[in-house]
Amino acid sequence: MTASVPTRPKDVLNTFRVTDGVYAIGVQERGVTLYNQQVRAHNLVWALTELDQTGTRKLGRVAVIGAGAAGLTATAALMSCREDAPVTLFEKEWDLCPVQQGCDGRWLHPSLYAWPDWGSRAPSASLPILNWSEGRASDVARALLDGFSIYCQKLAGDRFKALVGVHHLQVNAKRKEIRFIGTNVEMKGPFFSQGDSEGGTEIFDTIILAAGFGWERTNAFNTASYWRNEQLAQPNLTVDRTRYLVSGSGDGALIDVCRLTIERFRQDTILYELFGKSLDETEEQLRANLEKRSMDDSLLDYFASIDQTLFEHPKKSLRNRLRKDTAVTLHIAGPDKDKPNDLQDIFGPTSSVLNRVLIYLLYRCGAISISRQSLAEAISSAHITNDHVLCRHGCDTERHLQLMFDDYAHVKSVFAKMKNRQAQHPNRYWTPGYFPTC
Ligand SMILES: Cc1cc2nc3c(=O)[nH]c(=O)nc-3n(C[C@H](O)[C@H](O)[C@H](O)COP(=O)(O)OP(=O)(O)OC[C@H]3O[C@@H](n4cnc5c(N)ncnc54)[C@H](O)[C@@H]3O)c2cc1C
Repeated sequence: MTASVPTRPKDVLNTFRVTDGVYAIGVQERGVTLYNQQVRAHNLVWALTELDQTGTRKLGRVAVIGAGAAGLTATAALMSCREDAPVTLFEKEWDLCPVQQGCDGRWLHPSLYAWPDWGSRAPSASLPILNWSEGRASDVARALLDGFSIYCQKLAGDRFKALVGVHHLQVNAKRKEIRFIGTNVEMKGPFFSQGDSEGGTEIFDTIILAAGFGWERTNAFNTASYWRNEQLAQPNLTVDRTRYLVSGSGDGALIDVCRLTIERFRQDTILYELFGKSLDETEEQLRANLEKRSMDDSLLDYFASIDQTLFEHPKKSLRNRLRKDTAVTLHIAGPDKDKPNDLQDIFGPTSSVLNRVLIYLLYRCGAISISRQSLAEAISSAHITNDHVLCRHGCDTERHLQLMFDDYAHVKSVFAKMKNRQAQHPNRYWTPGYFPTC
């Protein structure tokens, strides 16, 4: 931990602060994972509770906006820390944890994106609130919802209220006010029944923004959201080879490239399959070498330097299992037409080290084509049909926030600062046993 990382509740709370009373979880952080968002939710509730107990800042009536992993964790943590705090949960969709629910094709692991860090292969999140272990995204969503229902049954009482289908929600950050139209629900175990719809304006003492990052940008290609089920990882049941183009350089794009190019690809087993017995030793060497580098460095030159040693065996293993039914172009140009990204850039900090390793190995096996042309040119020169173009260009977070705040001009600069600071470290600030478990 570096000296600049805050550890006092007041300083930790400041990293989430939009205005006094309004706090946002991870919305401007880089490298967002479900686990990191849950750790941040724990940290925020820990800081709020500590400051409330010392009389520094009143927790009072709390609103949580968004019932994804972060919002559910924050709500359950509040219930567990404070017997009396009234909490209202607002969810735009018609169910809780709607993003990962039913997603059978994507794998979630709590810390694999921190690989090769120590312990990053551990299968359990080991969290006090809404714990889970690696699995299909649909199974993880189920674990979160089952866990949440236990908190509701044991601790919610009359002080908890949830609204779904909240199709109009406006936050006024200055007044700590939420205007909404939504439908009340009554939790019955892991499920709930629908109550009355209501619209209103309410003032809260504390507003927690856990509304995620907004819609993924699809560049008019209608790429399904990352968490919707599709069949990319399954062999084509046609004789023809199918051409795909994946545009982007974040983890979403790189994972889709792996699914389209590696036979029987599974995020949970690929490391073991490629590195075999040398996995522990490789990790150790990668850790030692990566520690000496800046997080912002491109790893292309470093990977080239270990190409004949650490990567020799995994390259051989990978060559054996390249898909024969697909041809894949990775489009890396990025949004700046005048300065398209080059190969170095996709090995920069826009993705996890694990996915950068996989893409490097694929590139060295000649399993992908790389394009720096404009998207239109790349599609036409590789003869790709529009339904085989996958745009993974991240989320339009600015627009998302703009639509949520009716005084966005008042908070815009705070969100810009959050983005620059990257201060919501997913370190655990609470002490073991701080959150009573259900
Ligand atoms: C392409 C892509 C790939 C990813 N891959 C991974 C991965 O491999 N592993 C991983 O751990 N994470 C991954 N993530 C990140 C992951 O999606 C998030 O970490 C995770 O969803 C938890 O975040 P959350 O609860 O903060 O937000 P979300 O899951 O987005 O939940 C936010 C909730 O708020 C609701 N909401 C939004 N706006 C409003 C509003 N105005 N009013 C009320 N409710 C609202 C939404 O409906 C949603 O239920 C990926 C993300 C993307 C975009």
